[in-house]
This record gives sequence, structure tokens and C-alpha cells, in this order.
Amino acid sequence: MKRIAIYPGTFDPLTNGHLDLITRGLGIFDEVIIAVAPSIKKTPLFSLEERLAMIAEVIKDIQGASVEAFDTLLVEYVKKKKGVAILRGLRAVSDFEYELQLALMNRRISHDIETVFMMPSEEYSFLTASIVKEVASFGGSVKDFVPLQVEEALKKKFKRV
Ligand code: ADP
Repeated sequence: MKRIAIYPGTFDPLTNGHLDLITRGLGIFDEVIIAVAPSIKKTPLFSLEERLAMIAEVIKDIQGASVEAFDTLLVEYVKKKKGVAILRGLRAVSDFEYELQLALMNRRISHDIETVFMMPSEEYSFLTASIVKEVASFGGSVKDFVPLQVEEALKKKFKRV
């Protein structure tokens, strides 16, 4: 039986840190489904459709990785996809408290789904989608932090007319 992990998030936009985690996840799971939340409350820079299309393009050659949108309770989505685990990333200490709350809440709702935390490569340990957006908005280069397709999309978004 295939071991499927669900990697949920906003991915606004997908960074090399996210990609690093997807690759690491595929080292222990047969499939990783990147589950993109609309996250309307966070007023994302990229629409859900834009995020889905960008991610699909970036992962097209990564075997075992796929992308979908979800807008239900996460644990229900995980069950629907027959996932065995929720994959989350732990960067610097700042992620810990929120991630712990989330994982324990999900366990309370559904005790048979585990949350698996993985740490990205050191170079991505301080990388956040917010910082990437901020740098790009001022015309700074983000090419070391995001895939090429994302870099292009950011340039387009912040193009001054
Ligand atoms: P959310 O809206 O849930 O915070 P994100 O898209 O920001 O979604 O992040 C999704 C997951 O990826 C989270 O578990 C987050 O900790 C992790 N993550 C984000 N950036 C990185 C990174 N640079 N390295 C490793 N994990 C990361």
C-alpha cells in the first residue's frame, strides 16, 4: 500500500524551502500531495489558481509529487486522500509553538493521523514566503530562494507600470 503524506499550506508563493521539504518528504513517503489552502484571511498575493498552476509547473518532473486545492478541515481532507501523515516544516524556533498547537489540535480531532515535521536544509531555515514577497516588491533579486517560474511570476506581479 502506498504511503501518502499531505503537505498543507498557503504557498504564496512556493519557495525553495517548500521544495526542499517536498523532496525530503518523498524520501520517506511514496507520495506527497501538496494541498493548497485558499487562505483568504491572509489576503494572498497570488490567487489560488495562480498558486496551483505555478506549483504544478515546478513539480512536473518530481515523481510522487502532486498538487491540489483543499478548503475543508485538514484531517478530513487527509482521510479522503487516504493519507497517513500531515507533513509540516520546522524552521527556526519561531515555527515551533504554532506548529505544536496545530498538530495537537489535529490529533485531537483525529487521533490516527500523525504530523511529521521535517527540517529544511540550513540555507532555507530562515526563508519565508513573506520575506520573498517583500524583497521582490522592492525589485530585489529572489533567484536564490524560489524556483525560476516563481521568480518570473513575482517580477510580473510587481512590474511597475
Ligand atoms: P501556512 O499558511 O500553513 O503557514 P506556508 O505555505 O507558509 O503555510 O507553509 C507551509 C508549511 O511549510 C509550514 O509547515 C511551514 O512551516 C513550512 N515551510 C515554509 N517555509 C519553509 C522553509 N523555508 N523551510 C521549511 N519549511 C518551510
